[in-house]
Amino acid sequence: MRDVDMHTHSHYSDGADSPCDVVRKAKEAGLKAVCLTDHDSHLGLDEFAAALKEFDLDGLAGIEVSVYSHGEVLHLLGYGINHTGPAAKTLNDVLQTNWRALNSRIIEAMNKYRAAGLVDVTPEEMQKTVGAKGPIQFKLWLRDYRQRFGGVSPETAKQEQEKGGVAHASYDKKRFLSPDDGIKLIHEIGGVAVWAHSGRLLLKDSIKHELIFTELLETGLDGLETEHAENRGVEYVLVELANRNNLIRTGGSDYHGRHKPKATLGNHGITHDEFLALRWRLGK
Ligand SMILES: [Zn+2]
Ligand SMILES: [Zn+2]
Repeated sequence: MRDVDMHTHSHYSDGADSPCDVVRKAKEAGLKAVCLTDHDSHLGLDEFAAALKEFDLDGLAGIEVSVYSHGEVLHLLGYGINHTGPAAKTLNDVLQTNWRALNSRIIEAMNKYRAAGLVDVTPEEMQKTVGAKGPIQFKLWLRDYRQRFGGVSPETAKQEQEKGGVAHASYDKKRFLSPDDGIKLIHEIGGVAVWAHSGRLLLKDSIKHELIFTELLETGLDGLETEHAENRGVEYVLVELANRNNLIRTGGSDYHGRHKPKATLGNHGITHDEFLALRWRLGK
């Protein structure tokens, strides 16, 4: 259990809880600080800021931007971002690209579900029913819907998607922003850009990891998420890479509420001292 969880999702992307509930639960878990990092969405950040005040907890506004490079979907975390005024316009403009990518195949996915007799609602109705708030619709919602309203187990809901090819039909990854655009966006709104859970790629293809890491560094990458469940076994490589390149190091559980029960708040993260040093370096 760590003091600070820098990676959480709310129902503004594919998490299950409201931003307020994320903060309340972080407080109850005894954390000193928490960051909200919804996928391709800044829409929960006002509620998040209000909740930090209400529960007297430290934290930074964040986002997790999807980008596509060399056949891989990468996630870039942005921390200390602005999301109001001109920054809101920038976010809305740039993120359109990812919203289109994420929604590009949802109709196809829903049709497959309907043909199989699994759901009988429109994507909009489903979004409303599961309580998701963002403009983004995820394959996870389909699973959630099946579990809650179809009465199937999480395993069955997952199998249904895999069988129907729905898991792969839920979005078009090639249409995501480029890493360049992702980093530029995060910098433009005053944040630092951190490559999330890159251990996932390092374990799969270390040569590609090196290639992408080099390219991200040239584009202005500021940090690596060294503490994350998916970095298991290669944390030391990432820590070494971060230190050698004077990058910041972050960490978090990737909390999604009931959608991902194993990722509990603070089960990965950083210490409060590390977080304070980070804030100082960011001037936030
Ligand atoms: Zn991620
Ligand atoms: Zn995440």
